[in-house]
Amino acid sequence: MTNKRVVVIGGGPAGHDAATYAARFGADVTLIEREIVGGAAHLRDCVPSKSMIATGGALSFAQRLDGMGLAKVETGIDADQLRERIQGIERRLEQAVTQLLTSQGVTIHRGTGRLLNHNEVCADTDNGPIELTADAIVLATGSKPRIPQWAPIDNDRVLTTRDAYPPKEIPEHLVVVGSGVTGVEFVHMFASLGCQVTLIVSRQQVLPQKDPEAAALLEQNFLDRGVQLLKGARATEIVRKGDTVEVTCSDGRTVEGSHVLLAIGSDPNSQELGLETTDVTVDSAGYIQVDHNLRSSVPTIYAAGDLSGKLPLSSVASMQGRKIAEHIMGLHEGREHRHLDYDKAASAIFTEPEIADVGLAEAEAFATGRKIRVTKVPFSSNAKALINNDPLGFVKIVSDPNTGHVLGGSIVGQNAAELISVVALAVSANLKVQDIHESLFVYPTLSEALSEAAE
Ligand SMILES: Cc1cc2nc3c(=O)[nH]c(=O)nc-3n(C[C@H](O)[C@H](O)[C@H](O)COP(=O)(O)OP(=O)(O)OC[C@H]3O[C@@H](n4cnc5c(N)ncnc54)[C@H](O)[C@@H]3O)c2cc1C
Repeated sequence: MTNKRVVVIGGGPAGHDAATYAARFGADVTLIEREIVGGAAHLRDCVPSKSMIATGGALSFAQRLDGMGLAKVETGIDADQLRERIQGIERRLEQAVTQLLTSQGVTIHRGTGRLLNHNEVCADTDNGPIELTADAIVLATGSKPRIPQWAPIDNDRVLTTRDAYPPKEIPEHLVVVGSGVTGVEFVHMFASLGCQVTLIVSRQQVLPQKDPEAAALLEQNFLDRGVQLLKGARATEIVRKGDTVEVTCSDGRTVEGSHVLLAIGSDPNSQELGLETTDVTVDSAGYIQVDHNLRSSVPTIYAAGDLSGKLPLSSVASMQGRKIAEHIMGLHEGREHRHLDYDKAASAIFTEPEIADVGLAEAEAFATGRKIRVTKVPFSSNAKALINNDPLGFVKIVSDPNTGHVLGGSIVGQNAAELISVVALAVSANLKVQDIHESLFVYPTLSEALSEAAE
């Protein structure tokens, strides 16, 4: 029997995991990437934003040193070094992903991929077009920052998230439009770097989808750091005036800054993919409609990652890629195969404090009338948090009052993004609070707060 031929368009976490696993399972795989192997959103959004936040975190740690019995250390930002650091991380990750793919025998074409029909793809490369025939095609072209008509993006003072790093200069006064996960991370990032920041919040609270207690702690942190919050304001116009930029809101309020950054969501990269040559169904926003196996309306064509319109997270994109590889290679038949349950995906917001959650939220249970048990432990009673001089935040565990099964949780505080993994494992493995409570965690650690909350 000849090998299955798989063509993947897009080398982000969705595409490179689909390619790596399909090759590992025995397929003959070709991957087409037009920009950066590792993913534009992954390596140009996710990774640099976290790198900048790590630098800001080091700065704020230095500012807390006097509370730890040390003299205050004078620190400052070196924009050139910061830029080199971010580019260095990006280069290293691109090399690592490329090496992994080639070690598995994946052929990589640098170019733009487009569908010719249900089984053929063309890669437009610098050396001309290459036509490829495939038994299965994986579309994993990701997304790009959303730009409304009223935003005259100039990559200088009116920026999308992707233009903000590596930073050419640290803005004097940054106005951030959008108070969802991405918006608040950018507020935190630039406030940590010493920049004056104003956040335009369309509702009455930041992070409208998250635990209100967590959002309130974050707002307080912003206010403590001098961030201005313009609440109940919807930006409708941005005008560049020489070295300043003015944002006007629908109620007539205006705010002026040196730069403005738009963080109002993303749009799928589904144009110019040749979808019109196929029967693939696309929704009104441009996302490819897929079934629980991530297969489109055409059996030979799959879609993964941001393009699938499910949950725009790198972790989810990677797992989708892997599940597609299993499905293409028939591994879902004859052995245990679990479909992805997006409700059980852990996610985090890398602010100060960090905010992380997974599974059922308290507010969601309340809204649907579901009976739950909520237990909450503050970090102010945790030895390690006090040792670290950072006792802000809490651990909250949501469980079933009858069976004790862990249904979800949220954590606010240092290392929340790491700690939530314990709750995520409990949720996906259907563990009970007792399983967490009776695990012997290390003392002193922040994890003990999880054990206590699970009592
Ligand atoms: C500012 C920001 C911060 C984020 N932080 C996090 C985070 O902390 N954690 C997290 O889990 N998620 C984060 N995300 C989301 C995460 O980056 C995306 O969900 C993830 O990268 C999606 O992976 P993907 O493979 O679908 O797309 P991408 O990573 O965008 O990869 C798609 C690839 O396809 C290529 N491509 C597109 N069209 C074509 C074509 N026609 N031919 C060839 N190649 C093509 C692109 O060049 C790109 O490399 C963040 C997003 C943003 C905007």
